[in-house]
Amino acid sequence: MSNVLIYVEAENGAAKKSSLEAVSYGAAVAEMLGGKAVAVAAADLSADHAGELAKFGADKVLHFGGTVNQSSEIAELVAAAAQQENAAVVVTAKSINADGAVPMIGVKLKASVATNVTALPDLSNGFVVTRAAYTGKAITQVSLHSNVKVLSIKKNASGTKEYNKPLAVESFNANISASKITVKEVKKQTGEILLPEADIVVSAGRGLKGPENWGMIEELAKTLGAATACSKPVSDMDWRPHHEHVGQTGIKVSPNLYFAIGISGAIQHLAGVNSSKVIVVINKDPEAPFFKSADYGIVGDAFEVVPKLNEALKAAL
Ligand SMILES: Cc1cc2nc3c(=O)[nH]c(=O)nc-3n(C[C@H](O)[C@H](O)[C@H](O)COP(=O)(O)OP(=O)(O)OC[C@H]3O[C@@H](n4cnc5c(N)ncnc54)[C@H](O)[C@@H]3O)c2cc1C
Repeated sequence: MSNVLIYVEAENGAAKKSSLEAVSYGAAVAEMLGGKAVAVAAADLSADHAGELAKFGADKVLHFGGTVNQSSEIAELVAAAAQQENAAVVVTAKSINADGAVPMIGVKLKASVATNVTALPDLSNGFVVTRAAYTGKAITQVSLHSNVKVLSIKKNASGTKEYNKPLAVESFNANISASKITVKEVKKQTGEILLPEADIVVSAGRGLKGPENWGMIEELAKTLGAATACSKPVSDMDWRPHHEHVGQTGIKVSPNLYFAIGISGAIQHLAGVNSSKVIVVINKDPEAPFFKSADYGIVGDAFEVVPKLNEALKAAL
């Protein structure tokens, strides 16, 4: 029993970037165990895009014809696929639905579970995984002892790797019980770049003074191909939509590059962004706490710095 089963979520027919990272992670674990990497996806992944998973390391894709919207449905699909494939390890990317499914998968497969995993397991002495803890402020190493292990991978921690595997997509049938929850309405985030999946995030806070000043933030985001985000008070005051609120009580992001413009850097804000790879802070107060977490800092008035930065980037990119 050395196969790895990876659950893939899709958006607009294509696998989410975080799921592609999970596929590459799962493929690497399968190589370490001497097994196969098998991806399972529901109908939200189009048949065309299902084949692309081989490029990221899947040996085989199980394509389920129905939809799975609730965590309990995902858990049933994944557990059924894991049992069919005799999987020793189950991998999911972190997401709202998968986060709910992971403990249920653990129960169904009598598995040890590790969430927020940031690195490949160490197999030199059992099965030890590294995971982020305390909102990214600490790293823990946990040893998983059960036969089956379920790992939820932190976004942007492991990246993708390109493989050159042959395409093998199989249809997969599973008996999924009807969910006890009915979704009445889904209001999907609009905009070209979805915040949880973005590589670059341009975020602004109360220092921007009012919603009418967000034009320069959107311009900078457009230049960089970034998603926009904001601090909690900004969304509380309806300057920006609630789905842009990042932090302890908002969305947690871990992009490659996070711009914090006119944001003080309160601990509750940092809790949602401090695992970003590179943090750039623009704040007129040199004592702003955010500078302590910054890789690059600009002390200056956002209304002067941001337009100049945007022009310079436009010229350079
Ligand atoms: C239980 C709880 C949960 C919370 N959850 C969250 C959360 O999830 N996310 C979150 O963001 N907050 C959260 N908060 C609120 C948090 O504590 C802070 O109050 C909030 O993050 C501050 O937002 P801000 O930095 O935009 O505003 P402020 O604290 O008002 O900071 C504005 C910053 O802008 C700078 N500035 C002003 N003018 C300019 C200018 N012209 N140019 C450049 N810089 C300028 C100032 O120097 C200042 O540093 C939570 C609080 C609690 C109690």
